[in-house]
Amino acid sequence: MQNNNQGKWNLATLAIHGGHQREAFGSLTTPLYQTATFVFDSAEQGGARFAGEEPGYIYTRLGNPTTAELERKMALLEGAEDAAATASGMAAVSSALLTHLHAGDHLVASKAVYGCTFALMTTQLTRLGITSTLVDFTDMNAVEAAIKPNTKVLFCETPVNPHLQVFDLTAMANVAKAHNLVSIVDNTFMTPLLQQPLAMGIDMVIHSATKYLNGHGDVIAGIVCGNAEHMHRLKYEILKDFGGVISPHDAWLILRGLKTLDVRLTRHCDNAEVLAEYLDKHPKFSQVFYPGLSHHQGHRFIGNQMKRAGGVIAFELKGNKQDAINFVNRLGLFTIAVSLGDAESLIQHPASMTHSPYTPEARLAAGITDNLLRISVGLENVQDLIADIEQALL
Ligand SMILES: *Cc1c(COP(=O)(O)O)cnc(C)c1O
Repeated sequence: MQNNNQGKWNLATLAIHGGHQREAFGSLTTPLYQTATFVFDSAEQGGARFAGEEPGYIYTRLGNPTTAELERKMALLEGAEDAAATASGMAAVSSALLTHLHAGDHLVASKAVYGCTFALMTTQLTRLGITSTLVDFTDMNAVEAAIKPNTKVLFCETPVNPHLQVFDLTAMANVAKAHNLVSIVDNTFMTPLLQQPLAMGIDMVIHSATKYLNGHGDVIAGIVCGNAEHMHRLKYEILKDFGGVISPHDAWLILRGLKTLDVRLTRHCDNAEVLAEYLDKHPKFSQVFYPGLSHHQGHRFIGNQMKRAGGVIAFELKGNKQDAINFVNRLGLFTIAVSLGDAESLIQHPASMTHSPYTPEARLAAGITDNLLRISVGLENVQDLIADIEQALL
């Protein structure tokens, strides 16, 4: 017997067993269906599949059994009716937005968003006749005030890069419902194990699966979760025609990564809590941004909206840009790289890396100072990480 109890399983168990189907040879792991197309027994059967009269696979852009298992598992984890896996986190963001927005429509989004999401909204969508207003999502009155007659979507991510502000998802869902808008949340920094936006009334959740969901730094992929009607449009109109589908091999790697998501996140959060306290007390650092710290704006959401604070910390080293650069270069265990959610602790300098496309004025307005650093805390022993920081400060 198998999978007869999925409704009662905890998320850690679902991440391992959820959505798994016993296959013909009894393989423990999910088979990798590395195929572009699927064979029909007869022309009639092919016709029936295309007509939707017979279930079954046709062509991997329209669905694949390995990908489908990842989608079932993610839908179970997020408490969604359905999910779609995509070629990247950005394919997830763009597919989710294009499912709801047409030329002439408007969206309201957080002014702090992932860099390419910002570019998508302010450049690519504008080319298609879709406009956006970016506001501070810590102020729901400002969000409501930005809504126009042609507004269709509210969008944010929380906690948000790089200062880890947390936005009130229940309040956002209420504003969306009151104005008949679709609410979309990028849940990349939390994963469904730490935060479930749909349970708070949000309509759609997207992920960069490149980060914690896969967790091993070897895949670029995304996920969208939502209700059956939205997801049907997203899969069989947007993904089918724009084509941003995932490779079955990448879906298979994410399924493998998800089996350890719960234990990995526990360690990421444990390490980040210790490291944030250490940085916060250290005289060589000025500001530390981490929702797990009691003085952080997002702290009041821990334990209700989000189970724990996650594994990303930002902080300012006392000194100028060159001091920050020298500190990063002296680190030996931290790896200098963008991205997050990997086993390796990563450090980056937002002013010259992730936020370098900003003008210096826009960067300053966004609080991205020249001495700001961001780390994605990995799975190493935290005392080794602290020792590395100590030696880099000498
Ligand atoms: C990385 C990231 C994305 C983009 O995902 P890709 O997989 O790189 O396309 C979107 N949102 C957030 C919050 C991210 O961290």
